[in-house]
Amino acid sequence: MSRKKIIAGNWKMNKTPQEADALIGALIPAVADADADVVVCVPYTALAGVTALTKNTNIAVGAQNMHFEEKGAFTGEISADMLLALGVKYVIIGHSERRQYFGETDASVNKKTLFALDKGLIPIVCCGESLEQRELGVTNEHVRLQVKAAFQGITAERAAGVVVAYEPIWAIGTGKTATAAQANEVCAVIRGVIGELYGAATAGAVRIQYGGSMNAANAEELLAQSDIDGGLIGGASLKAEDFTAIVKAG
Ligand code: PEP
Repeated sequence: MSRKKIIAGNWKMNKTPQEADALIGALIPAVADADADVVVCVPYTALAGVTALTKNTNIAVGAQNMHFEEKGAFTGEISADMLLALGVKYVIIGHSERRQYFGETDASVNKKTLFALDKGLIPIVCCGESLEQRELGVTNEHVRLQVKAAFQGITAERAAGVVVAYEPIWAIGTGKTATAAQANEVCAVIRGVIGELYGAATAGAVRIQYGGSMNAANAEELLAQSDIDGGLIGGASLKAEDFTAIVKAG
């Protein structure tokens, strides 16, 4: 089955609204003829400007997190409706930095994934092992568990619309990329779990990204792997030239 590649930038806590607009201004013409789906996950404060600038372009906008409740007394949180009102289409859920620094758990990841789907946002659900887990040889078990937990309660029709990002924690922001074979092996394990849960057709349709120090130099090899359908890009998404090169590799 052929799956359209999806290249998403995760800007993390970088770029003021003005800086974001400038980067988007450079990206719009640069990626206009991309074959891949292009997504930029920008800080909340840049969402209004970036969604306005990218209207009628091939760049879709994502948030980096959201809350799983409809609305209410959750100081500092952002709801799905707030994102939708701005024209946001994607939301990253369970990034390892949120799990590590902000107490995100498999249970909250599942709630957020369910809620995003209820609302019509496309979740980019992150999973991945630590260096310790890789060295202990429990990568596949760990990632299988994370994926099973994230998909709990999600129907087969909806499951195919989830994007999964496999991001080994030891490769994020470190300059250490998983080899193409390592990354593809775990992406295949993820597809296998989805197949166990939903069957071969859903497993064949779900898009699985690799993330972890993907850059202009290594993107082509990673994106050529059988089970890697795109990239979630941190550092290299902050420079128009680098991100464009990755988009073109996709
Ligand atoms: C990320 O944070 O999702 C990521 C992959 O970061 P980097 O590309 O900087 O490793």
